[in-house]
Amino acid sequence: MVPVFIHDPESEGEWRSGEASNWWLHHSLERLDEDLRAVGSRLIVRQGDSLKELRSIARETGADAVFWNRRYEPLVIERDTRIKEALSTKGLETQSFNGALLHEPWTIRNKAGKPFRVFTPYWRTCVRMDVDAPLPRPRKIKAPKKWPRSNELDLLPRLNWAEGFKVWTPGEKGATTNLKRFLSTAFTDYGNGRDRPDRVGTSRLSPHLHFGEIGPRQIWAAVSKCPGWRHSQFLAEIGWREFAHHLLYHFPATTNEPLRPEFKKFRWRKNAQALRAWQRGQTGYPIVDAGLRELWTTGWMHNRVRMIVASFLVKDLLIDWTEGAKWFWDTLVDADLASNTLGWQWTAGCGADAAPFFRIFNPTSQGEKFDGAGGYVRRWCPELKGLPDKWLHQPWNAPAHVLETAAIKLGGNYPEPIVNHSTARNVALDAYQRIKR
Ligand code: FAD
Repeated sequence: MVPVFIHDPESEGEWRSGEASNWWLHHSLERLDEDLRAVGSRLIVRQGDSLKELRSIARETGADAVFWNRRYEPLVIERDTRIKEALSTKGLETQSFNGALLHEPWTIRNKAGKPFRVFTPYWRTCVRMDVDAPLPRPRKIKAPKKWPRSNELDLLPRLNWAEGFKVWTPGEKGATTNLKRFLSTAFTDYGNGRDRPDRVGTSRLSPHLHFGEIGPRQIWAAVSKCPGWRHSQFLAEIGWREFAHHLLYHFPATTNEPLRPEFKKFRWRKNAQALRAWQRGQTGYPIVDAGLRELWTTGWMHNRVRMIVASFLVKDLLIDWTEGAKWFWDTLVDADLASNTLGWQWTAGCGADAAPFFRIFNPTSQGEKFDGAGGYVRRWCPELKGLPDKWLHQPWNAPAHVLETAAIKLGGNYPEPIVNHSTARNVALDAYQRIKR
């Protein structure tokens, strides 16, 4: 067996991996190579057109079969279908497998035989189905007589990210450690803990899942040892990931277009300055700024805060959700076309089973509710550290002497709010009424 990774970003078009994903991928492949060497094998790395490289490897090694795990991004499906046909006509056996999901998207249908568009009945169907047990790691992999040529990996990250990204351990070992830690410390209280960005109340498995360092069947098997597991909130979140893939597979255009067609008429605003303030965490709304700074520094953001910052971009700034999706795509280590598309369309109200557009998050009350003691905001916006809890999520309302004592100068070392939330909310609701009419 010859384990191969081909880096072929051209074939993924505009959705080729972003910078943060490249960082993860690079380290993940290094770990994979080490793990393979420990069982007598190694990883062959190639760059370029996948089909050309596969043919060349088959020629060099005399391989007569090619196996891979399926992916579900529209352009990748097209590419892999072309490869399958081309290799088969040359007499090579080809087989693809499900390594990423509990169930293939085409195997789940509603009573009318159509794809699901609503999560609850989708998950009710899935959760009743059996899931194959995962196979153990191989103890030994037989090496070929002669290894084919292998390139150096060249996906190194932006240097200014290196420090903050150290919180992660890409690779299978990092994935297993996170799962064990989560099950022993946070699973039982996940219902409450998952909404607290100041705590480690979630599994932080998303990049590991995206890069296939752990699979949902392994998670299913591990969770099934916990009481009440089948109907647990945590497993339902794994269900949202499945649902995201189900939607991407059946509605591939949704990466760039709203699933609900009336939203095509929505009048988004072009505002480069506001978009930049949002990207840099300089909006003047502490919970929003904390989230975007966490993202830039660590390549990850807590789910509750993802919803808050996404709502702020789409509804307070009226900037097209695809701009936010693109920023996340470049900066998230867990950037995933299925989950990112679902997350943004859900927040913008234009996707399947989405939050209604008129439900607009208030960044102040969201901050007070989910980061009441301010641990999250104080960590990521240290210039606000000295503000009492009462004003932490609304510094613009703090009395002058409080700001002075906390050494905060609004418009100086921390921005004034770039929009007034109440006014912005009314403007957004008007814009929504227009498309409804
Ligand atoms: P946990 O709470 O421990 O959940 C376990 C796993 O379930 C996650 O690792 C993830 O695979 C899955 N999951 C949890 N919530 C969701 C969800 N809402 N949708 C889909 N799967 C979910 N997730 C990504 O993996 N990649 C993305 O690019 C992505 N973009 C998002 C964009 C927006 C605007 C929003 C609102 C959400 C996005 N999410 C994305 C979903 C979610 O925020 C992350 O999966 C979660 O924060 C990862 O942290 P965790 O592993 O600790 O999650």
